[in-house]
Amino acid sequence: AKPRHTDLLDDLNPAQREAVTHAGSPLLVVAGAGSGKTRVLTRRIAYLLAERDVHPGQIMAITFTNKAAAEMRERVSDLVGRRANAMWVSTFHSMCVRILRREAKTLEMSSSFSIYDSDDTKRLITLVARDLDIDPKKYAPRTLAVNISNLKNELIDPETAVADAGNDLERRVAEVYVEYQRRLNQANAFDFDDLIMRTVELLQTFPDVAEYYRRRFRHVLVDEYQDTNHAQYTLVRELVGTEANEAGIEPAELCVVGDADQSIYAFRGATIRNIEEFERDFPNARTVLLEQNYRSTQTILNAANAVIARNPNRRAKRLWTDSGDGEKIVGYVADNEHDEAAFVAGEIDALADKGEADYSDVAVFYRTNNQSRVFEEIFIRLGLPYKVVGGVRFYERREVRDMLAYLRVLANPEDTVSLRRVLNVPKRGIGDRAEAVIATYAERERISFAQALRGAVNGEVPLLNPRSAKAITGFVELLDELGEVVESGAEVADVLEAVLERTGYRAELEESDDPQDASRVENLTELVTVAREFTEFTAEVAGPDGELPEPDPGVPEPGSLPAFLERVSLVADADSIPAADGGDDSDGHDAGVVTLMTVHTAKGLEYPVVFGTGWEDGIFPHMRALGDPTELAEERRLAYVAITRARKRLYVSRSMVRSAWGQPQMNPASRFLDELPADLVDWRRLAPSSSSGGFGSSGGSPRAATTWGNRGGGSSSPSRSTGTSPFGKGWKDTVALKLDVGDRVSHDKYGLGTVVACDGAGPRATATIDFGAAGKVRLMLIGSVPMVKL
Ligand code: ATP
Ligand code: MG
Repeated sequence: AKPRHTDLLDDLNPAQREAVTHAGSPLLVVAGAGSGKTRVLTRRIAYLLAERDVHPGQIMAITFTNKAAAEMRERVSDLVGRRANAMWVSTFHSMCVRILRREAKTLEMSSSFSIYDSDDTKRLITLVARDLDIDPKKYAPRTLAVNISNLKNELIDPETAVADAGNDLERRVAEVYVEYQRRLNQANAFDFDDLIMRTVELLQTFPDVAEYYRRRFRHVLVDEYQDTNHAQYTLVRELVGTEANEAGIEPAELCVVGDADQSIYAFRGATIRNIEEFERDFPNARTVLLEQNYRSTQTILNAANAVIARNPNRRAKRLWTDSGDGEKIVGYVADNEHDEAAFVAGEIDALADKGEADYSDVAVFYRTNNQSRVFEEIFIRLGLPYKVVGGVRFYERREVRDMLAYLRVLANPEDTVSLRRVLNVPKRGIGDRAEAVIATYAERERISFAQALRGAVNGEVPLLNPRSAKAITGFVELLDELGEVVESGAEVADVLEAVLERTGYRAELEESDDPQDASRVENLTELVTVAREFTEFTAEVAGPDGELPEPDPGVPEPGSLPAFLERVSLVADADSIPAADGGDDSDGHDAGVVTLMTVHTAKGLEYPVVFGTGWEDGIFPHMRALGDPTELAEERRLAYVAITRARKRLYVSRSMVRSAWGQPQMNPASRFLDELPADLVDWRRLAPSSSSGGFGSSGGSPRAATTWGNRGGGSSSPSRSTGTSPFGKGWKDTVALKLDVGDRVSHDKYGLGTVVACDGAGPRATATIDFGAAGKVRLMLIGSVPMVKL
């Protein structure tokens, strides 16, 4: 019997209930942070299943992260069991991959396509720009990539871009765009923006395809609607339809939820227009407003209201709660970023000691990923368990990318970027010249790079020296051999093992006496483990019979190589956020870990205790925003997001001096601190007494002690003083660092690294340090070294 859940509505307020039960016309739920938008969305799905006889297979829900999708699916599984698997709950990108796999042929692609991330994209654009003789100093590949991405977010195809180009930059961009797109097709690859753009193209160009999805998905629900861009908006509209189509199929029911004040992805083309004009875009739309907040204390909400009220052109809206004022916000002005981190760590320790919070209740926010390092240093030193979300990620490491490139070539031989990446890795005598000869040949014959390689084996490529031809033959044979391993149906982890073994990649690392290579071997072992778990996990989802309910032709076979690659390609920062209940250690009390992340990553989440750090003009708001009202408004929304993540306690801190690129810089207080009503904040410390201006001299303002910095100048330009520290002595001790090979260090500019060599002595002592992605750097160890030993 079908479960009935009349109590689905019990713990909702009337407005929420209306949103959950509304049927028929398109529905927009707009509301401030923490008012239950996500709860409404999840509950609405449950209600559709339980009360409106909707089948899970008719539901498509779009969330912002894969993690949120997994949570939603879990909640629905609780209600309807394994039938929940037939429901599509995913991010925009995952949803599009699913559709594209299924419909690839229609777009003249193969369903084994690769997904290019921003690094692959940049590689390919660099190649294209080089071939088109574009001066990288004048038009950096990054600039070209950003511009092409913007065009795609606006659904502008290469031909239109060429026709519309009005200036030099636009003409160059358009030219690169045309060729880049041609090569993506040839490589049987989609970049991230293509996933959306080409799905839209598919639905708009092929009515029968659109009709299939329209018939299938009768309910489309979108969370965080304020962060959709034009391409995503169009995708939703195409899926749902705005009127009955020729076959008489009515539009699907649409429900979107969002908060214009939390729109923080304008740099990816997100536009709150999509919220503001919902009623115009979708005739007969109904709008529901939610006002009561269930997350935070009134103090926290007052702070959030005060800050966001400064933004121009917004609909006034005040968050309120009936849960009381709660604790005051705690403010802290630190001498430098190390002092700030020490304060945060000390507070967390104290809260944990007093039993007021577990580590997993605490989140530390910063504006940009590189700010995490000082926190890591001190947390490591104090033994405070933590997890950094985002930053230089596992899948971005060189050795991991190399292995994934091999796997991608095996899954999709036409994947040129991956193929060229591993062509001579490890070194097998195929030099740059040979690569160029092959590339030119491929270009001239209008064949793919992979086909050109095979041509070389058959002696068809002119100008290729015999040694290179022999090396290429060896490489092609190797790929064929590995291809057979895949064909034999081996598990992904075993394919990976075969690649590591037969390419000699692992052996080379193991024979090296560079300690960094030892950690590379560890990372590769970790990758094999990930692959192993992936297979086991998918087997579990599929059940003992190995079959998913309602298998979908769009989905790669569970546990297969394409499925693994897809998972890896779409992994997002937020997917690695630790569980709030403190992990899977079920026996005994587990206090979990403190979560460190950027404010962007924290969207949609909530924590009992939140530390907002680095509230300085030039940091938060970001330097870029200081002279630009539009960007400043976006930064202020970011501040609003940060504040509204907190449930019980909010801390805000800033540092008077912060090192940037190894130089101490004095940062004025963030203007957002001034915007917090003074009576809400308990300033634990305003400034070091040694500085001029005096401690507490104009009570209550975080800016009281700041007599230097650029505030007095009346200019909004980010002219920062980088002179000597007001503390006389250097902000960090001037001592010679004593390092040995193998030591781990943390450097202000380069990040975490491992010492690989030490030379000289006394004032001439140097260390060569491998900073991973930042490369190997040789540094003097005497003087004010912006580096600490871990
Ligand atoms: P954000 O804008 O940050 O995404 P949101 O509007 O999606 O926030 P939710 O995350 O859905 O808000 O809800 C915030 C918190 O309030 C959650 O812990 C949720 O369980 C709780 N909540 C929502 N509605 C109610 C209610 N009617 N009664 C009790 N708790 C509620
Ligand atoms: Mg939400």
